[in-house]
Amino acid sequence: MDAGNAPLGALPGVGPALLALLARLGLERVQDLWFHLPLRYEDKTRVTPLAELRVGEREQVVGIVEEVERGFRHRPQLKVALGDGSGQTLRLRFFHFNRAQAEQLRPGTRLLCFGEVRHGAQGLEMVHPSYQRVGADEAVAADESLSPVYPTTEGLGSKRLAGVIGKALALLPAAEQLELIPLQLCVEHGLTSLRDALLYVHRPPPQANLEQLMRGLHPAQQRLAFEELLSRHLSLKRMRAAVRHRRAPVLGGDGRLQRQLLAGLPFRLTAAQQRVGGEVARDLAQPHPMLRLVQGDVGSGKTVVAALAALAAVESRHQVALMAPTELLAEQHLHNFRRWLQPLGIEVDWLAGKVAGKARQATLERVAAGAPVLIGTHALMQEGVTFARLGLVIVDEQHRFGVQQRLSLRDKGRDGELVPHQLVLTATPIPRTLAMSAYADLDVSSIDELPPGRTPVQTIAISNARRVEVIERIHAACAEGRQVYWVCTLIEESEPLRAQAAEVAHAELSAALAGFGVGLIHGRMRPKEKQAVMDAFKAGQLAVLVATTVIEVGVDVPNASLMVIENSERLGLAQLHQLRGRVGRGAQASNCVLLYQPPLGQLARERLQVMRETTDGFRIAEKDLQLRGPGEVLGTRQTGQLSFRIADLARDAHLLPAVQKVGACMLDGHQAQTERLIERWIGGSARYAHA
Ligand code: ADP
Ligand code: MG
Repeated sequence: MDAGNAPLGALPGVGPALLALLARLGLERVQDLWFHLPLRYEDKTRVTPLAELRVGEREQVVGIVEEVERGFRHRPQLKVALGDGSGQTLRLRFFHFNRAQAEQLRPGTRLLCFGEVRHGAQGLEMVHPSYQRVGADEAVAADESLSPVYPTTEGLGSKRLAGVIGKALALLPAAEQLELIPLQLCVEHGLTSLRDALLYVHRPPPQANLEQLMRGLHPAQQRLAFEELLSRHLSLKRMRAAVRHRRAPVLGGDGRLQRQLLAGLPFRLTAAQQRVGGEVARDLAQPHPMLRLVQGDVGSGKTVVAALAALAAVESRHQVALMAPTELLAEQHLHNFRRWLQPLGIEVDWLAGKVAGKARQATLERVAAGAPVLIGTHALMQEGVTFARLGLVIVDEQHRFGVQQRLSLRDKGRDGELVPHQLVLTATPIPRTLAMSAYADLDVSSIDELPPGRTPVQTIAISNARRVEVIERIHAACAEGRQVYWVCTLIEESEPLRAQAAEVAHAELSAALAGFGVGLIHGRMRPKEKQAVMDAFKAGQLAVLVATTVIEVGVDVPNASLMVIENSERLGLAQLHQLRGRVGRGAQASNCVLLYQPPLGQLARERLQVMRETTDGFRIAEKDLQLRGPGEVLGTRQTGQLSFRIADLARDAHLLPAVQKVGACMLDGHQAQTERLIERWIGGSARYAHA
């Protein structure tokens, strides 16, 4: 039997208790341990004299306890002064300790410690170092290789886990048996031995370049990253192939409804909108499900493209579901769709979490009976929502939904054998390389042109110390008839706190701008109240709208031409770009003021700088990727969709072209290896792909 597939219980010394802990980490088979890779490394191969300690480094030291002090300033703490005869003292600080520990640490005790060196109030210190007592004359043995630190779980220490992994590594088969990428492809792409790479990352020799290892740039790590990216790529491609294999309704009639909609619009489609609309129409006319991502910068006009697709479905007597991540955004779509579709005699239904009781029941019944268009939040995915003939699913701001959610909505459409088409809209411009990996299961269309007549937003950053001047400036703008957004941001996750901050700003601005209408909108308000405020702002009855970041996506008031963003230093680039996209929608020149709280950190300074320099969503996304990494850029960190064991999309993007080539060859003629590779790296979480 294949050693890698053996259950972990087969390893010597692994009993039920340990098995349960390992299972919590998703480790069930021997090969799961081979591929459970270190998060980082610690250098315990040498002992550093106290006089040579460097702040910021993780170091191993040996010393004698000279003094112990127990304090209770804010909370109990134990302070231990350590010396080694060099004149330098290192203070160890513990905030969690038990009595036994405190009694062990007496003056005269000799300790071996490992931890990060910091500047403390009384000189160098380590907070909560790991330590062990050593005898006065005992020779202190330094480790022979760098120590890997593994991701682990409560109750399972890194050392113990490393021990089990060591046992599993003893069972590694010969190189050619371990390899799943066909030899010829390995040679073509310069891929070295997987076996050597695994052994190296688990047990780097003492002379290994720690810096390179820490950054994930060692060739052994890159070899593993390649394989992990490949497995992810294959899994997405396979999922897509499985969906493509299914049958979908052919959508699109004679285009009568679309022509009517276009004739009623006050503008002509841009060339980019026409091209993307055509790509979507061609997909919809196929008897296999479309899986298409339409990306376009804020304001590029994705909504009308979505509406045209919806009309193709309606014309073919199929239903459309449109889903957005926030209620406000979903409401905006409802508003637009009703405005555009009702004149054509098409009803648009609404479903959100807050729709309850009789209203909910009535909506569900209409949808089950075949009502043409349903718009809402993720409530659309819940149990109990059944469609009669779902033909098209439109998902806006896809980056906030995970692949699994995408699939679950798709399943809503199972009517006999037919699967609905999927259109995904995103305003987060995704760098190409990233899009190819993150969305290998989707085709991508870009609306790469803004409607004519827009002037780029002028952006400046101003310290909050000059807040009064900014408010004066708003006053002047209002006097000229301009409309203004004032965006309150709080890092706090809590909606009540956010709402409260907005209320405070609202009071301040109302007082300073007497005579002008100042409105307030936040996520705690009821949909009707929010809509009333938005309508008043749209109609020009309010000069200023104080808002939380609920207005981040989708809000569209072309006459608003000035935006102030408070605490802008706390926001990421993608979010700043989304917010700023709320202005600059009309023909008039627009401005954005980024208020910040000094002093600015390096990262915040760079972000504000980028915002001042460009309004190009793609450049901003590239920069964002550089500064923050792909999990944040795609907003999928929570879903775990893009969490890798060793690969890092930003760092390893250069591997992607080869990953795609190797992937194509493997899908073409190496089915069995493909399955095993996915199973190896993605394991259980890949199973939903078969759903
Ligand atoms: P987004 O791509 O950000 O979702 P929207 O679909 O909300 O953009 O469109 C932004 C604004 O541009 C809306 O007011 C919309 O009516 C308008 N718009 C869309 N297409 C065009 C066009 N071709 N010419 C002029 N205005 C347009
Ligand atoms: Mg939009």
